[in-house]
Amino acid sequence: MKPILGYAENLLVLHSAERDPEALPRHAADPRRRVVLIAGDLAVLRAGEPATGLLAPAEAERAGAPEERIFLGSLDGQPVLAGLAAAEAAELFRDDPAFLVADLRAIAMRGLVRPGELGMLASAKSLLDWHRRHRFCARCGSPTAAAQAGYRRDCAACGAQHFPRTDPVVIMLVADGDHCLLGRQAHFAPGMYSCLAGFLEPGETIEDAVRRETLEEAGIRVGRVAYASSQPWPFPSSLMIGCVAEALSREITIDRSELEDARWFHRDEIRLMLDLAHPEKLFAANPIAIAHHLIRGWMERNDSARPPAPGGGGRRGA
Ligand SMILES: [Zn+2]
Repeated sequence: MKPILGYAENLLVLHSAERDPEALPRHAADPRRRVVLIAGDLAVLRAGEPATGLLAPAEAERAGAPEERIFLGSLDGQPVLAGLAAAEAAELFRDDPAFLVADLRAIAMRGLVRPGELGMLASAKSLLDWHRRHRFCARCGSPTAAAQAGYRRDCAACGAQHFPRTDPVVIMLVADGDHCLLGRQAHFAPGMYSCLAGFLEPGETIEDAVRRETLEEAGIRVGRVAYASSQPWPFPSSLMIGCVAEALSREITIDRSELEDARWFHRDEIRLMLDLAHPEKLFAANPIAIAHHLIRGWMERNDSARPPAPGGGGRRGA
């Protein structure tokens, strides 16, 4: 089965042109509405195979009046709202077998909802988390209030408008022929290696961020950089920008404040890691993460570029 990239598929139709002041109350009164409920950092799902984050209004109201409410978009012509409840509200659902309470990592890793709901849950969680952390105006310190159906916060005191932020992160598969560079942070599960990554800084291009982060973390100089794909990462609101990059040097110097280890892996070793058959029990990042897809994509591309093995066995792994 092809691994699913978490949070990248979103079934919602967004309506950014429709976020007038009446949009939220109008959709909140629609009896066909569905509600995504986030309690603290956790999502409340209705149990099932698969479970769903789209609750009926009466189910979501069990958590009480939401602290914040957003008109997220529509699904099959029905409005979808998102509500933020206090972390304690999760307890109201935890012992009821009709519901599941889980964080977004567990929901993706355990495949609890259909993949197209993961993107929707990520949108809801990132937006609601932003509301929770931006109650006051960054310009004048006065309280702010949600506007534009939940996609903006306004300050009545100074007139400033604040928009939800997405933090870009570059994540790169750095390769040199048959080898690629992976690293591990101290908090990773034992044996896990992943792509190097880091936040894009203001005024920086994606390509330069890839080169700077790789040089800072592993001492490797990088030349050509190519964009591969991206992934929303709702912890709390990053966009992972996946790239494949070409190494210009081989000698690794590890920044121990960032990484516990970094090393070059031969493609045959990468295959063992992806197959969970590595003799030292090393493995690559989880399939829900873009790093896994960058690593797998590189290995498979290298496979097809490789000449058939002597003896006419065709290409390996085919
Ligand atoms: Zn203000």
